[in-house]
Amino acid sequence: MSTNQYPGERPQKSGTSSWLKVGGIGCLVIVLVVVGLVIGLVRSPLVQRNFQQSKLMAECSANLGQLRQPLKRYAADHSGSYPATLAELYPKYVSDQKMLQCPTSGQKGAVCSYDYTRPAPTAPGNTIVIVCRHHTMVQGQPPSPIELTKGGTIITVRHMGGHTRPPATTRP
Ligand SMILES: [Zn+2]
Repeated sequence: MSTNQYPGERPQKSGTSSWLKVGGIGCLVIVLVVVGLVIGLVRSPLVQRNFQQSKLMAECSANLGQLRQPLKRYAADHSGSYPATLAELYPKYVSDQKMLQCPTSGQKGAVCSYDYTRPAPTAPGNTIVIVCRHHTMVQGQPPSPIELTKGGTIITVRHMGGHTRPPATTRP
């Protein structure tokens, strides 16, 4: 009968094993630090703001795109004349009044209306009809406007700071 069959907790190559253990912990710490940095970066106010603003700009562009047909239908029913205000589209041409406002409306309790300029029936297709100026990508920079032309084109100008480009549009 042996009383010492399994030493159990006594590894034979203790040196290598503990080095492996230290190395493993070191790797784990590095991984955790990197993960922490990535999470910190993603959650940083600037990145969050950019992400949120990009999302809102996409929603706003989609909203403007949905106003193309109501405007065209209104003009078709009024011998080519566009409405004096966007509100005139509701309820006959637009079923939801929310479509007449930027999706940033409601945030901070503000009503964010679009700037609407009634185009002349003979105005060219590149005439800007609706502009949203409620989006700022970088604080301190001018707003990044989203525009809808009479022809139905949506133009987005992003002011990211440093590099800005003028809107590629021709005013009537
Ligand atoms: Zn908007």
